[in-house]
Amino acid sequence: MNKPTVLSGIRPTGYLHLGNYFGAVRNFIRMQDDFDCFFFIADIHSLTTHPTPGDLQSGVKQVLAEYLACGIDPEKATIFIQSDVPEVAELYTFLNMNAYLGELERTTSFKDKARKQPDNVNAGLLTYPVLMAADIIIHKAQFVPVGKDQEQNLEMARKFAKRFNRMYKKEVFPIPRPYTFDGKDMIKVPGLDGSGKMGKSEGNAINLYEDPKSIRKKVMRAVTDSGPTEMNQEKPESVQNLFTLMEIVSTPDTLAHFDELYNKCEIRYGDMKKQLAEDIISYTAPIRERIIEILDDNEYLAKVAKLGADKARESASRTLREVKEVIGFKRLF
Ligand code: AMP
Repeated sequence: MNKPTVLSGIRPTGYLHLGNYFGAVRNFIRMQDDFDCFFFIADIHSLTTHPTPGDLQSGVKQVLAEYLACGIDPEKATIFIQSDVPEVAELYTFLNMNAYLGELERTTSFKDKARKQPDNVNAGLLTYPVLMAADIIIHKAQFVPVGKDQEQNLEMARKFAKRFNRMYKKEVFPIPRPYTFDGKDMIKVPGLDGSGKMGKSEGNAINLYEDPKSIRKKVMRAVTDSGPTEMNQEKPESVQNLFTLMEIVSTPDTLAHFDELYNKCEIRYGDMKKQLAEDIISYTAPIRERIIEILDDNEYLAKVAKLGADKARESASRTLREVKEVIGFKRLF
């Protein structure tokens, strides 16, 4: 029996951080045996922020090496670079004809981006969900392991797929669904600045590629408060964030130990941060070593990219042929 198809990707706009790892890449690895997986590097998407050619190239190489170092296996999953599959740009053009200005303007991610980069509110930002829909449905993906931040964009992809099927009266595309493990929400990794979420642009992230010295420095500088004053007191967000990070990278015993100290008002945040930094280092150090090794092996990287591009193009061109036929592009001459 065919395995269900899964697709997901990350933009090559910097190093992968713990949020990307625990919120996305670790799930990719957990899926690669049981699903027909397509994991890509979203370099076309990253053009909305106008990277220099040099930054784009090094970003793509970095994410490719990081995917592999984390354990995505190119023999099991299709790992590819988005721009190696030009068919997606063609499907994006077709889908744009049935994507409406009002619905695109209303998406939260567009409004967020427009606020963050007011001098560069380009059409690519507006039609980001259309390109994302093309990425997904060109491989007829049934599942997309998405973070909470991408839920609305996936909803748009579902809408565009249904609209296309309805318009041409043919079930060309399966309707993609979000994939979560055990029905639980995707994990959200907090930042080190006492607020919300770890993110590249927020400057509150620890990268997988980060060296131990820098990890210690960043963790020791993390925001806390002046300490609990009452037994079993509720933790403020900044302190809870440290506990959440510990929950992710430390042993249950370590977490329980610091939790108990907090509840007894005996916690010393300095000690907790030292432990957290060491646990993050133990987690990331082997990955970092592999990233360094793989980055040095251009031949291997080129081989993986070529294998992925071939597999992804085969799947994409199959769908595109079908799409063009139902649209009515027939050879007349
Ligand atoms: P980004 O680097 O923001 O493009 O993130 C790529 C993907 O990584 C997102 O769609 C999420 O699935 C995941 N991700 C990023 N940051 C976090 C975070 N702090 N917690 C959990 N998942 C995250």
